[in-house]
Amino acid sequence: MINEMIKDSKQHILKGRRLYIPRMSTEAASALAAAFRSVGVDACISPESDARTLDLASRFTNGEECLPQRVTLGNFLKIVQGLNFDPRSTAFFLPTSSGPCRFGQYRNLLRKVLDEAGAQEARIFSPTSSNGYAGIADRRFRFLVTVWRALILSDSLRKARLMIRPYEAEKGLTDSLHNRFLGKACRVLGDPDIGFRRQRRECVKILQSAAEAFESIPLKEKLGSRPLIGVVGEIYLRFNEFSNQHMLRSIENQGGEVWIANIAEWAWYTNYEEERKLREAAGIVTFEMARVRLRRYIQETEEKALTRPLRKFFRSRPETPVPRLLEYSRPYLPAHKALGEMTLNAGNAVAFYHAGCDGVVDISPFTCMNGIVSEVVYPRISRDHEQFPIRIFYFDGVPFDLTGHLEIFMEQAGSYRRRRLEKSRRGSRSGQ
Ligand code: SF4
Repeated sequence: MINEMIKDSKQHILKGRRLYIPRMSTEAASALAAAFRSVGVDACISPESDARTLDLASRFTNGEECLPQRVTLGNFLKIVQGLNFDPRSTAFFLPTSSGPCRFGQYRNLLRKVLDEAGAQEARIFSPTSSNGYAGIADRRFRFLVTVWRALILSDSLRKARLMIRPYEAEKGLTDSLHNRFLGKACRVLGDPDIGFRRQRRECVKILQSAAEAFESIPLKEKLGSRPLIGVVGEIYLRFNEFSNQHMLRSIENQGGEVWIANIAEWAWYTNYEEERKLREAAGIVTFEMARVRLRRYIQETEEKALTRPLRKFFRSRPETPVPRLLEYSRPYLPAHKALGEMTLNAGNAVAFYHAGCDGVVDISPFTCMNGIVSEVVYPRISRDHEQFPIRIFYFDGVPFDLTGHLEIFMEQAGSYRRRRLEKSRRGSRSGQ
């Protein structure tokens, strides 16, 4: 595998190939594809998921794979089965990782399946620092910063959309504005002729116009008047609407508003962990540590500059910094013992309580360890925080009727909200 990647890096494996990006969240995948186009890679997002996605995946899986793996595989197989598929001009984007999570196996399974399907010449592109960002090495800095900008833009547009959509007077207006600004952002991000500084200025302008457009949407209810539901869970599932059976929209249809943990949070968390491990290993500031800190500095500067136009808009929805999330999770799943999404889930559940949410929904794939461990600590978190409602929903690709379960949860969230508002009224009266 490593040999293949080294060989690939020498041959610039993306030259003359179309690169398909998995559609975890449509907005983030679209922006990431644009970032690839900005360095001359012909990138686009993989097809929408549907029943055929799982049907295709099931021909090559045995049931031990998690749902995100099956959905990713199935969508790539749709491309392989397409009429114009040519393995010599195709590449699939699939990052990889080490550790116990099945994510590290996605690439291996895809390679095996492609070979079995006669697509040996199709490439899998897994950029990591260890393979010198094969195929994009010559414009690596621009690419990495553009990816970060893409992530911040797509997270910001999603967040604004979720704050307004449940209250819109004209159904569909928020989504259509969101898509329009996402399209504009992708055009700017993907244009290789737009200079680096101008790219940032244009992105800021887009978010400025988006904030103004979102604020002028006519509303049928007062903003913030619905029970606010924090959404945590496995990163692929909480953003992939097909896999979570459109859970976010279902919460809105049941009278709630959604606040979902951003994708960028994962990047902040991995930065934090990388720095912590380097500190523990060396005890002094090393070159490697300085590199990680410089990267964090650039990311923070970029995020601050890009989101400035939305600062007022997001005032009621501040993101909790990762060190505080890990503080919050410490009594339940301490970060130095429980790594990854489970510790972020626990920390976010507490953070959403402090931020004034009325409940938390965890969206997890069936058989994923993160969800199973998080589920064990949720009752304690709930008890320690005034019976704060927390409910986990598992998905395995077999559709089930969410309505009844969600109705019960929203009833609990509504009654928690009434208690919370009553308490704050009493508090403000006694403080007078
Ligand atoms: S976290 Fe769980 S669901 Fe996500 S890739 Fe890993 S094993 Fe699969």
